[in-house]
Amino acid sequence: MSNIETVGIVGAGQMGSGIAHVSALAGYDVLLYDISPERIEKGIATINGNMARQVAGGKLAEAERQQGIARISAAPALSDLAAADLVIEAATEDESVKRKIYAQLCPQLNPEAILATNTSSISITRLAAATDRAERFIGIHFMNPVPLMKLVELVRGIATDNLTFESAKEFVRRLDKTTTVSEDFPAFIVNRILLPMINEAIYTLYEGVGTVEAIDTAMRLGANHPMGPLQLADFIGLDTCLSIMQVLHDGLSDTKYRPCPLLVKYVEAGWLGRKSGRGFYDYRGEHPVPTR
Ligand code: NAD
Repeated sequence: MSNIETVGIVGAGQMGSGIAHVSALAGYDVLLYDISPERIEKGIATINGNMARQVAGGKLAEAERQQGIARISAAPALSDLAAADLVIEAATEDESVKRKIYAQLCPQLNPEAILATNTSSISITRLAAATDRAERFIGIHFMNPVPLMKLVELVRGIATDNLTFESAKEFVRRLDKTTTVSEDFPAFIVNRILLPMINEAIYTLYEGVGTVEAIDTAMRLGANHPMGPLQLADFIGLDTCLSIMQVLHDGLSDTKYRPCPLLVKYVEAGWLGRKSGRGFYDYRGEHPVPTR
């Protein structure tokens, strides 16, 4: 197994900062990069706030918080990730963005370093082919919010070697999370099942079968889901939801995966859910208010 001590993270959004958080608390040194320097600052501030909440809730000792946060460094340039043994790319769910990142990142990396992607849906084999290390490339798919969610899906591309797979498995084990192994098909296991359900909830809204509140209440109390599907869509990010539906639709060529036009409209409006302040709910006031 390769010895992972330093973890580089590309993308300091919801997922990248969550991965930085759990990696630092597990004792890894973390280098956090984003194309936007403000996002790195914001990411570290979010991690600080979330760790403080864990301390207040008795889930983390203050000394662990301090040690954890001290292990995270901002990486202002991709070249700063040269010291990483494992780099996890958690940038926007857009294949062209990820390809561009790999083209710039790979020449900077240690030749032995493992490169992983947190993609929710894009083919690992295809992304691997855009790197210089297909055998040391793997999908390590965390769930949102990373500090709370126990599952990580591991997805091997066609060329991923055993050493990479075992190293990724050991990394996740050290984070105290459970792995499942998915084959490299569009959206893997969790999102192959979850996203069509969310998309159907949006169709249910689009066709006027129920209001936002009715649909979410129905699924919370009627199917015992901890969150309604529209609330969950806002939480995931509507741009990410749309990208995953497009990957399912393109990759499986089945009309049952057609993204709901209402989802497209929300994304076009920039109403991306919690992260942009508005989606199926408006989060700008004290309490979320349905937008339809
Ligand atoms: P996000 O929008 O919160 O963050 C994306 C970050 O990527 C932003 O900070 C953006 O500035 C950065 N970025 C964009 N282009 C970049 C570039 N060229 N170089 C470096 N950084 C760049 O999105 P997110 O929810 O954190 O999703 C990130 C990845 O994680 C996606 O692949 C997504 O599919 C996956 N994912 C998301 C969820 C979820 O529930 N949101 C769950 C599992 C996996």
